[in-house]
Amino acid sequence: MWRKVRIAILLLILAVAAYSNWYDRLSTTDWDETLYIGVFPVDEAQNGVARDYIGRLSANRIADIEEFLNREAHEYGIAIARPVSVELYPPVEERPPERAADANILQNMWWSLKLRMYARRASRASGKPPPQVRIFVLYHDPTFSQTVPHSVGMQKGLVGVVHAFADAGMTRANNVVITHEILHTLGASDKYDPLTLAPLYPIGYAEPDRQPRFPQSFTEIMAGRYAIDARTFEMPDSLDDVVVGDATALEIRWIRK
Ligand SMILES: [Zn+2]
Repeated sequence: MWRKVRIAILLLILAVAAYSNWYDRLSTTDWDETLYIGVFPVDEAQNGVARDYIGRLSANRIADIEEFLNREAHEYGIAIARPVSVELYPPVEERPPERAADANILQNMWWSLKLRMYARRASRASGKPPPQVRIFVLYHDPTFSQTVPHSVGMQKGLVGVVHAFADAGMTRANNVVITHEILHTLGASDKYDPLTLAPLYPIGYAEPDRQPRFPQSFTEIMAGRYAIDARTFEMPDSLDDVVVGDATALEIRWIRK
């Protein structure tokens, strides 16, 4: 008897999760209404540097993310005036749960559940209307961290965790990473080779038909880097040099209606 009840409860939880994932996917990529995205700064460095940087952050420092996404959405024929709204939220004291590098499937599921609960708590605590997509940006001190952990964006739960540098000169480059993870939450996949970091041809190229093919001067957002020649790949300085390619547009359902 109890075994059946337990199984029924488990099935119910899975059904609710499947329904909410399906609903999220549909409601974030129908492009009939503005999609609300919140950017939540988190002080990762904990030594004053990131706190000062976050204190100086203002809406206009991240304004190019919304400008970029809306410009590209309009290029693909999305008809509404403001496809996305990207808003800066107050800093979050609590840091998001960490995922162990060697996590197994169950540990990963547990981590993603904790991250969803964390995102919900943080959105509520902000005192502002909760956004549909939540991106937590963890600011590191560039003097101590030359490299930062991988950023993630998850479609299940509509949450992203971005590792960024607390450096005024890096703000525009940070915004490229934030935009990349936002697009992951909407269902876009990476378009680079994880071993060599080379953009995949043709889907990871901003101008696949360009003659000669190299050097490319723009970056496909989900490729992350542009090819100067067949073996040299560079990250863009800002969203000014980035586009959303056809494959990414299809994944996030930027389809002319
Ligand atoms: Zn990615």
